[in-house]
Amino acid sequence: MQDAQALAIYDALEGLRRPVLQPLRRFIDPWVASERLAFVGATTGHFASTASIRRLCRISPWMSSSVCSLSFLLPMHELVAALNRHAPTLLATYPSAALLLAEEAMAGRLRIPVREIWTGGESLTPAARAVIASAFGCSVSLSYGASEFLALASECELGRMHLNSDWALLEPVDERHRPVPAGEVGYTTLLTNLANRVQPLIRYDIGDRVSVSDEPCACGSGLPVIEVEGRVDDLLMLDDANGHSVSLLPLALTTVLEDDAGVFDFQLQQRGQRALWLCVAAEGSTGEDALHRAQTALRRFLRAQGLPGVTVGGRCGDRGLTARSGKRQRVLADPHRRRRNVAVTA
Ligand SMILES: [Zn+2]
Repeated sequence: MQDAQALAIYDALEGLRRPVLQPLRRFIDPWVASERLAFVGATTGHFASTASIRRLCRISPWMSSSVCSLSFLLPMHELVAALNRHAPTLLATYPSAALLLAEEAMAGRLRIPVREIWTGGESLTPAARAVIASAFGCSVSLSYGASEFLALASECELGRMHLNSDWALLEPVDERHRPVPAGEVGYTTLLTNLANRVQPLIRYDIGDRVSVSDEPCACGSGLPVIEVEGRVDDLLMLDDANGHSVSLLPLALTTVLEDDAGVFDFQLQQRGQRALWLCVAAEGSTGEDALHRAQTALRRFLRAQGLPGVTVGGRCGDRGLTARSGKRQRVLADPHRRRRNVAVTA
């Protein structure tokens, strides 16, 4: 729960500290009033990004016609058609979704007059950034936020991520919540939100792995430089009945399992071109129920993506595989089909 003042602070931080990708256009139009914005992501549920866009439209009704929110759960051809209709000049989305849309643009199916792409929520490798920038012929920025604090950090002109430490504190800590030395990545990170008064968060574990540097940045900013370890989930590429490849975003799959099925501790594994396997950690009848709800939600999602024949097996009381690094992925591609995932994940 966040109060109006906190949301206003997030908006101000986004507006004032986001890198200026088009200085001349922003000089003429600092509040992006003449732009058409499209947001592609989770459009239902309690996500702060969606709530924030709805709030902006409510307090500035003139924005309603120039802003559109599109769900990343839509089949790709529907998403592309909706974007072509809206013709956004600004696109805000996740790096992995931007990469899939870049492929649609390169294939000539997506034709939008986009001039800036704002990404966040996942890491963005230099290779992925270059592909997106060249496909759309525009600049790409990256910022870091969480539902508990929407505008945590944004990039400076040197491409380093600066924490808005005047409004949010991040403390990288070890397994027992003890601080780790400056510059080291912790096991997890504690967030203190100095903007939100309605539900104060003090040293709240946000589960991300972050390092905070004590070295100043050459750009001259006094805000500390942080590095965020990216999500490790894979993009899945399955085949439809005609052998055509269909890509599924890991964030879309985890959203289906969390929001539609109410299952949070799981691992979804790809086992071949047309087969998925779901491990659900819960045991006994609770686990059986969770597995059944998850399989039903996944099959419905796969049908909507044009993949009705893909099988979804599964087992409860099983937490799945853990990588050698100790990280447990929630969405795991078939090792033989992990083609472009390297471009998305860190
Ligand atoms: Zn800097």
